[in-house]
Formats: sequence, structure tokens, C-alpha cells
Amino acid sequence: MIKLTESTPTAQPETCELEDLKNQDQQHVWHHLTPGAAAAKGVPMFVRGEGLQLWDSDGNQYLDASAGGVWVTNVGYGRREIADAMYQQLLELNYFAGSMASKPATRFATRLLEKMPGFSRVYYSSSGSEANEKAFKMVRQISQKHYQGKKHKILYRDRDYHGTTIATLSASGQNERRDHFGPFVPDFIAIPHCCEYRNQYPDAEHYGLRAAQALEDVILQEGPDTVGAVILEPITAGGGIITPPEGYWQHVSDICQRHNVLLIMDEVVCGLGRTGAWFGYQHFGIQPDIVTMAKGVASGYAAISCTVTSEHVYALLQESEEDTLGYFRDISTFGGCLAGQAAALANLEIIERENLVDNSARMGKRLLDGFRTLAEHYPMIGDVRGMGLFAGIELVEDKVTKVPVHERIPTAIAAECKQRGLLIGRTNRSMSGYNNILNFSPALIASEGDIDNIVRILDDAMAKVFNQHAAWASPNDKL
Ligand code: PMP
Repeated sequence: MIKLTESTPTAQPETCELEDLKNQDQQHVWHHLTPGAAAAKGVPMFVRGEGLQLWDSDGNQYLDASAGGVWVTNVGYGRREIADAMYQQLLELNYFAGSMASKPATRFATRLLEKMPGFSRVYYSSSGSEANEKAFKMVRQISQKHYQGKKHKILYRDRDYHGTTIATLSASGQNERRDHFGPFVPDFIAIPHCCEYRNQYPDAEHYGLRAAQALEDVILQEGPDTVGAVILEPITAGGGIITPPEGYWQHVSDICQRHNVLLIMDEVVCGLGRTGAWFGYQHFGIQPDIVTMAKGVASGYAAISCTVTSEHVYALLQESEEDTLGYFRDISTFGGCLAGQAAALANLEIIERENLVDNSARMGKRLLDGFRTLAEHYPMIGDVRGMGLFAGIELVEDKVTKVPVHERIPTAIAAECKQRGLLIGRTNRSMSGYNNILNFSPALIASEGDIDNIVRILDDAMAKVFNQHAAWASPNDKL
């Protein structure tokens, strides 16, 4: 506890402590994704949460439509049941490495796999990047063991993001996230995005089939005997809430099977009900080989991620007499934190008991309907996309040219929303020229009233920013 200084005898202890903390924050904490100039001005300090509501250190209250900023808090803030489950587990046993069995790891894996027919193994780690790294290591080891190291290339899609480590960044298609961090790991190869609004194939009859064909084109160009896997988000998150075009997934799945390419589904954002199904891939009637998940697994109550595989993948990574090192020789120290698995189990039980997957689908539809109504009024809303409580609004100079607005516009809209007590997300220094998308991912407990408030406040914020933009939009003085 920080003590009051003698020079401030009349200050309230709590206010004083908060002021001290804010000063210390500005001096000592290096904030994620934050330019120094913004950090120097001070960033908000959130101090309490309940449901979808957050309070900052100045006593301001917010409706959080971003699930903790980055699509995390699926069951909402302040869940005593999860805290209790973690507390009980920590008192009973906090840790032993994942090479040994534990009650919570076994219980959660069993319950999770009930939601994922066709999968049989759960590998624990502690972040989305790490879950994807595990998948990449599996692919590389399968290549070494079964294909003389040849089938080692991993394809990823333009605009998708798979993590912050050098390997997962090497597999990410967002140039502003990658800039300055090279050189990258070799043999991660990009394929084109599947955003129909930004159609790269205007002559194609069927966009979904054409966009999927782009995957096969790259496989054939690289040589199918060199391509081990493709990693894809079911719905691209940070790259602009890109919902797949019709027919896309079935084709992608067929192409992977035809060329013996493993399909890794990055459900780090989409997993655990976000899109109105337990997992995003389940909307499309396909069966990936590996599924990774993180954010909603324990809704941010603990750092836990999973790499889930089919029995086929597990069987490919076993030792034999000739190959004693042939099993998956990998460990995640913090994948053995038992409170994470206890939190994940409580989180899953809440989603189940409160029907939050259905609620995500129903409230998501209401949210999209609200945004589509706004799109009829505002010429600068070019596209509205989403599934479940996972939605994006792409902003353009006008609906005909589709020229993306400057990123200052979504930044200004997010700031106006915050002024009015609503927290929303936006593409943040991700892709040059395309940081023009607002995103929304309220906790899956959102009510009709919450959804209507999000749409109403956004409407007010947009009216103000678009009016200003129109006033400023003289040739010499444009935002
Ligand atoms: N995959 C996707 C789709 C993500 O959006 C993210 C994080 N935003 C990651 C992976 C990486 O997760 P983490 O930050 O937990 O490493």
C-alpha cells in the first residue's frame, strides 16, 4: 500500500494512491501497442468490471463492446464462480508440469472435446501465439518424421494475424504489425485474402470459389509435396472482421484434402461462442486437423490456450523403436498452471448453462441489423460484416469508389464513443491503407438493451465525426 505523503495531509488515501499509481504507470509501464507520445499523456486505468460494465480510476463508467479491448472476456467481468474455482484449485494444488496428469486438465479437456466432435487431444499452453507455435512445431515435426523434412511449408492468408512471436508473425498477413521485425522465419508463404468487399477478381463468376482457388494456386506453385499446412482464421479478426464468402470453406477443405495439406484453424478469437457457434469452423460443415484457441477459453480470468488435434495428428507424432525421439517433444511451463484449467472449466459451464452461444447468435443478429440501418443513413459506411457477437464496419470516403477513410476517422469515432461511455475496437496500425474498420465484440451475455445502446451511441459518435469530416473536407484541409 502506498502511503500518503506529509505534503498532502487532506487528500483521501484512495485518491492519493491512484494518483501515485498513475504517475508510476507513466514512468514504468511499457504499454502494449501504444506510441510513446500517447503513453506520456497517460492512458486510462480501469479499476473494476461487472458484466459488460467497466469503471476507470476517475470514476467514469463504460459499456465495453470490445470484450477487454481484444475479444477476450466472453462471459463478462466479475464472475465470482470462476474466481472461486481458481481459488479452490490454487489452495488444493497450484502447479505441476503438464507432463503429469491433473484433475482440472483432464476435466476441461473432456468437456471441451464434447463440443468438438472428431477431435481427441488437447495440448495446453498459455497464449494464442503459443498455441499456434505448437501447431507449427507439429507440422514441422510431421514433415521431418514422415516426409523427409520436405512437406514443411506453412501457408497463411493476407490480412490474418496469428501472433506476436517471430514465427507466428512470419505467418501473419498484416504488414504494419510485421514492419521492422524481420528477417522472418523462412517458408511461411502468403495466400490472398477472401474479403469479397475488396474483390481482387472482378471477372470471377463466383468470388468464394475463386478466393479458395487462390489457395490451390499457391500450393501448386510451391509444390504440394513441400506444403505441410495452411493456417486460417474462420473469420478474420484484427484484419477487419472478414466473414468468408459463400462456398469458400468447403472448397478450402477439399483443396487441403486433395493435396494432403493439414488445415489449422486459428480460433483464438472465434472460439468459445464468439461467432454464435461453439467454434467458428462449425458454421461451415468442415473438419480441420488442428484447432487453436485462447482468448475466450477462460475469458481473461487466466492465461490459458489450447492446441486441439485429431487422433490422426496425435498418432503421427509418436515414437517408435527406430525413432525414440519421434514423439512431440515440447513443453509449455505455464501450460501446467492448474488454475487456468479450473477457470476454463467454470467458463465453459457458464457458457453452457446461460446459453451464451445462442445469445451470441441472437444478439449478434440484432447488432448487425442495427449497423445495417446506420449504413442506410451514412454514405461513409461501406460494408457491415460479422457473425454472432463479432461485427465490423468498414468506413469509406463514399460507397461507389470505396476509397478507405484515413485511420484518423475510426480513431475519432472510437474517441467520441469513449466520451459517451462506450468502448469499441478498430483496426489499429495493422495494414497500410486499410486501418478503416471499427470492430465490436461485446461479452456474450449482452442483452437487447446493451445492443441498442451500442448502436445508439455509435450513431451519435458517427454523426459528429462525419459532420466534422464533411466540414473539413476542403481540398487543402482533409482529415
Ligand atoms: N490469433 C489471432 C486470430 C489473434 O487475434 C491473436 C491475438 N490478437 C493471436 C492469435 C495471438 O494471441 P496472443 O496475443 O494471446 O498471443
